[in-house]
Amino acid sequence: MKKEMEKIVALCKRRGFIFQSSEIYGGLQGFWDYGPLGVELKRNVREVWWSDMITTHNELITPEGAPKPFSMTGVETTIIMHPSVWKSSGHFDLFHDFMVDSKESKARFRVDHVSVAVAYASDSTPVACETYMADIGEEGLSKTKRKRLEKALAEYEKTQGLTPSETPEIRVCNLMDYSKMLVAAEIPATGKLEPRCPETGGELTEPREFNLMFKTIIGALSGEEGTAFLRPETAQGMFVNFKNVVDSGRVKFPFGIAQIGKSFRNEITPRNYIFRSREFEQMEMEFFCHPDESFEWYKYWRDRRYAWYIKHGIDPGNLILRDHTPEELAHYSVGTADVEYAFPFMEENEYGELEGIAHRGDFDLRSHMEGKLIREGDQLVVEKNEHGQPKYKGSGKDLTYFDDQTRERFVPHVIEPAAGADRATLAFLCEAYYEDEQPDEKGKMQTRTVMRFHPKLAPVKAAVFPLIKKAGMPEVASSIYGKLRAAGIQAVYDQQGAIGRRYRRQDEIGTPFCLTVDGDTEQDNCVTLRDRDTLEQVRIPVGDVVAEIQKRIHG
Ligand code: ATP
Repeated sequence: MKKEMEKIVALCKRRGFIFQSSEIYGGLQGFWDYGPLGVELKRNVREVWWSDMITTHNELITPEGAPKPFSMTGVETTIIMHPSVWKSSGHFDLFHDFMVDSKESKARFRVDHVSVAVAYASDSTPVACETYMADIGEEGLSKTKRKRLEKALAEYEKTQGLTPSETPEIRVCNLMDYSKMLVAAEIPATGKLEPRCPETGGELTEPREFNLMFKTIIGALSGEEGTAFLRPETAQGMFVNFKNVVDSGRVKFPFGIAQIGKSFRNEITPRNYIFRSREFEQMEMEFFCHPDESFEWYKYWRDRRYAWYIKHGIDPGNLILRDHTPEELAHYSVGTADVEYAFPFMEENEYGELEGIAHRGDFDLRSHMEGKLIREGDQLVVEKNEHGQPKYKGSGKDLTYFDDQTRERFVPHVIEPAAGADRATLAFLCEAYYEDEQPDEKGKMQTRTVMRFHPKLAPVKAAVFPLIKKAGMPEVASSIYGKLRAAGIQAVYDQQGAIGRRYRRQDEIGTPFCLTVDGDTEQDNCVTLRDRDTLEQVRIPVGDVVAEIQKRIHG
């Protein structure tokens, strides 16, 4: 079943997972709030990530079966950092996208999202083009636009006396590559071939760079001196604290420093719900290791991170681990792989990035020692200004590591799994959504909406239903409810309406276990435990409820 995004979005609003930010004022594009259930779901996503990366994770068993120790630790660093951080890291100069504006309307587009279809006549002349909103791919090209292209070709071929081609050639590229494509083919771009605004058909401005970092001002200073940036990634907080963490003696080499926190990007076209927003949360980890072992570690993290999503309920059929092609790699990276998910709002066989796992070499620590690095041949060198001086100075601090076992000093290599907490939450939401047919109280089949969250992720773990108002029964139910909460298990108490309705309310928010105190409880001191997915019902003693639910959550 292809899931419908509209239904998922409606459920998220109706049941209190996700709201538009500042909704009563009409909302703010690219900003989202989490409601009472959403906040629990996202807290659980963070918690399973932190637990997997740090709490339960400090050694690797080698293929030979021996434990190979390494340390994992965390930090929490500030959103606003010294402006030099972004100069050395390259973000100040390079963290941009390209955008175009429509000259008529105020519409603004990220160039990556505007595709151009160029139609070539049978003599290879580009004759007409159409612009449309989509990442490269023909799918976004509407029938009307395709027809217009074919008509223009037919007219051109007729006036030139050419034999019309049986299958008209239509090449698709993104707006940025459009002029390159014409130049590469040594075909002069005619006036006719101006790409136009995909929405209004009006003229577009030339693509121009747009830095994605949000600017702010520190203190009363204005101008250059006071300008600071909201971080566009959390990673730099780990690099600049590398020496502090080593010196505090908390780690054994190799080691990882992790952080979960807000990041900000002034995205040109925020879209697809919480997939691309302007304020979002990242879960990143920088793993520092010896250069000779870095590939082994890269593969280790790449596979481990892919497996994490599956372990928490993502169907492997919807998830891919995609290695970047050499052209896609950042100038410092020796290898990057993305974990990608088939979101319901994407075309068939299209995936959206959940996480990137990058082998970053020694780029980051060296940049913060020496200053901004650029690639020259196969070397990374400090970028110079017109006076031959470093364009941006680094910190000048020694960020090497000295291994006192081997007496070796070196710049560690870095492996970085960088995930988005909101994108992971969205993938878990989409994956959990199901509709099935279940009989209601009268035996009539009804469509049931059920969120099949992994029990560790479910915002509410258990619901307690007192079925009869007979003396003593609501007391038993509320005592069970109190014990669950005291044990730290998110539970709800619901005494409203028929039992079938109560089940449906819980299914819709993904509560994995429902406990019913009924007429028999008085005699057997047991309650009915109903499983959300198998619908199996079993009787368990009242005194075992907390342990049983804990066992079912943690496996
Ligand atoms: P994209 O290509 O989708 O813009 P990216 O490659 O720039 O993403 P990274 O810089 O690698 O993303 O950031 C790591 C992770 O942070 C991404 O995999 C994603 O989960 C998350 N992320 C990045 N940008 C956003 C955003 N605007 N909204 C929500 N999550 C984001």
